[in-house]
Amino acid sequence: MSVRVVARIRPLLKLELDKDTIVEAATAGSETIGSPTIVRIPNPKNEAEAFSFQFNSVYDQKATQQQIFDNEVAPTVKHLFNGFDVTLFAYGVTGTGKTHTMRGGKTLAERGVIPRLLSGIYRRSRKTEKDTSGETQVQVTMSYYEIYNDRVYDLFEAPEKRTPAGLPIRDNGGKTVVVGLTERPCTTLKEFEQLYDQANVNRSTSATKLNAHSSRSHAILCVKVVQSTGDQTRINTASAIDLAGSEDNRRTDNGKERLVESASINKSLFVLAQCVEAISRKQARIPYRESKMTRILSLGQNNGITVMILNLAPLGSKMLALQEKIRARRDAPPALAPSIATAPIVPTSSVQAKSLKTRMQEAEKAD
Ligand code: ADP
Ligand code: MG
Repeated sequence: MSVRVVARIRPLLKLELDKDTIVEAATAGSETIGSPTIVRIPNPKNEAEAFSFQFNSVYDQKATQQQIFDNEVAPTVKHLFNGFDVTLFAYGVTGTGKTHTMRGGKTLAERGVIPRLLSGIYRRSRKTEKDTSGETQVQVTMSYYEIYNDRVYDLFEAPEKRTPAGLPIRDNGGKTVVVGLTERPCTTLKEFEQLYDQANVNRSTSATKLNAHSSRSHAILCVKVVQSTGDQTRINTASAIDLAGSEDNRRTDNGKERLVESASINKSLFVLAQCVEAISRKQARIPYRESKMTRILSLGQNNGITVMILNLAPLGSKMLALQEKIRARRDAPPALAPSIATAPIVPTSSVQAKSLKTRMQEAEKAD
């Protein structure tokens, strides 16, 4: 079982061009060559000082979608076919580039990690079938759901057909399954993209209906790869998760609905961070049962590879919060106006990593 935690700093957007980029990628120690592994954020209380956070790898504003995929995701495809499960997360405050990283834009160059992953899976499927002279057949299916307020909603189901309570989950031979979740076969990239786009439409419309921004739910795509040779089958899953915004939800505007949302987002992100930390420290106990998302993903229970991409904006957190406020007011009243404390910080597999809780407390004090 392995976990990589990497950071990606997005470029300044058009409306930010007059701002300073204060979050920077740096290389470790005195080295000036090599790939960066440090994110440096100035201390707002003392400009002469900066906070440094270590990652397995850091991507700056110039990093392309292709680079992120080639370095972090492409190598996992081989393992997926060799019996490992792959889980990819995009973690970060709203507006930092999670959806851009995962889904990306329409052009070939702007495509995110998800369509590229599928493309890699189909290529490997064809290769496997060819190498075994057709003896091994590969089938790919997908399911796609969101977790909102700790409830599971099938994204293949039209929002008006959903039951408000969401789909039940059940333990099935040590595995947690979502009962009634749609699973669609997709044999080509084109077929996948059609299904994925259609489900994403359901995501945005359901968000308006539930009076919630899509940044308040976790979107979980599961791609199942079934390899059959004679009467033997091998099933492995690649999951890609666009997480709910990790803004400081305690300071979110009051109102009962927002408070319920915040509590469930805080809890699930906190449990997720604890699981990632436990896996990276190779601890025996991984608290994956403590939230619905980590439970359904069986995080850390399988023979698996996890990659967590922490998305960051190059701006100070206060700027980002301000912009989000403006955007929310424009897009969707009642305003989603989180006050964002700081860049979210997740543990790295480095021994220097402090516990997530300590770092969050430190970061909050600095703010
Ligand atoms: P999130 O999903 O974390 O809320 P988005 O992915 O929607 O954030 O990104 C916010 C905005 O920034 C979008 O307009 C997006 O196109 C842009 N953006 C994010 N990352 C990049 C990047 N690496 N390069 C160019 N634009 C980006
Ligand atoms: Mg998003």
